[in-house]
Amino acid sequence: MSVLIVGSTALDSIKTPRAENPRLLGGSASHAGVAASFFGPVNLVGVVGDDFPKRYLELYRRHGIDLTGLQIKPGKTFHWAGEYELNMDNRRTLTTELGVFETFSPELPPAYRKSPFVLLANIAPKLQSHVLDQMAKPRFIIADTMDLWLNIALDDLLALIKRVDAFVLNESEAQHLTKEDNLFNAAKAIHRMGPKYVIVKKGQHGSILSAPSGLFIAPAYPLSKVVDPTGAGDSFVGGLVGYLANTPGSIEKNLRRAIIHGSVVASFCCEGFGVTRTTRATRTEIARRVKELEKLARF
Ligand code: AMP
Repeated sequence: MSVLIVGSTALDSIKTPRAENPRLLGGSASHAGVAASFFGPVNLVGVVGDDFPKRYLELYRRHGIDLTGLQIKPGKTFHWAGEYELNMDNRRTLTTELGVFETFSPELPPAYRKSPFVLLANIAPKLQSHVLDQMAKPRFIIADTMDLWLNIALDDLLALIKRVDAFVLNESEAQHLTKEDNLFNAAKAIHRMGPKYVIVKKGQHGSILSAPSGLFIAPAYPLSKVVDPTGAGDSFVGGLVGYLANTPGSIEKNLRRAIIHGSVVASFCCEGFGVTRTTRATRTEIARRVKELEKLARF
C-alpha cells in the first residue's frame, strides 16, 4: 500500500570531524521516502529548484518513489548545512538557505488525497495541517517535528498535534513541549494534546512508544561506527510507516515491529553520508538486523 510522505527535499552539506560532503541529497521527505520504499510504494510531495541534480530524481525513481507531487520551481533548492562535534551527538546548523522552500505550499495530486497512510515529515506545522485539509479521512496519520517549530510556531504545532494519530519527537523536544523532565510524564502530557500514540526518539539509546496498550521500550541497533547521523530520525519514521502500511493487521498490533524496522533502517542511515548507505541496504540486511534486535531485547 502506498504511503504519502510530505516534507523537505533538500541539498545538505555535512561536516563531521572526519569528512565534509557538500550538496548531498537530504531533507526530511528524502530520508523518510527512501526508508519507506523498502516496504512498498511511496508518493512524495515536496519542492526543489531547477538546480536540483537529475541524478537525485533518478535515485527517487529507482526507489519506486512517485514524483507526481514533487514541484520543480525556478530558483534554488533548499540548502541546509550542519556540522557535528566529535561525539556526533551534538550538531550545529551552519546555514539554512530556503530558496524555493520559502514559498512552498504542499498541493496534493488528486490521486494522493485518499492515501490511507500519511507521514507528515518535518516541515512547518502550518504546511503539515494544510496537507490534512486536502485529504479524505486517512487510516493513520503520523507527524514528526523539530525544535525550530516549538520555538517559532508553537500554536500551529499544537493545532496539528490534535489532528494526528501518532506524534514523533525527540527527547529534548518532548521535555521542551511539555515542561516535563520525566519522559513518561511528558508522553502522558502529549497524549492529552490529542495523539493516541506518542513516540519519543532517544538517538543511540532507542525510543519509547506510549500507546493505549501501554509502553514499549525499543532499542536502537548497536553501531560501533557512526559516519553521519543526519536524517536518522526521518529514516526511523519513514521505515516505521512503510512497514505499517504494508503489513496486514491492526496498527496497534503492528506498531512495535514497525518501530523496530524503523530503528533498523535508521541504523543504515547513520553508516553513510546522506542517504548513501540507506540506498544500498537490502530487505535481507534489514531482516537480519531486525532478528538481531529481537535477540538483544528478549529476556
Ligand atoms: P534529522 O537528522 O532527522 O534531524 O534530519 C535532518 C534533515 O532535516 C536534513 O536532511 C535537513 O535537510 C532537514 N532540515 C533541516 N532544517 C530543516 C527545516 N527547517 N525544515 C525542514 N527540514 C529541515
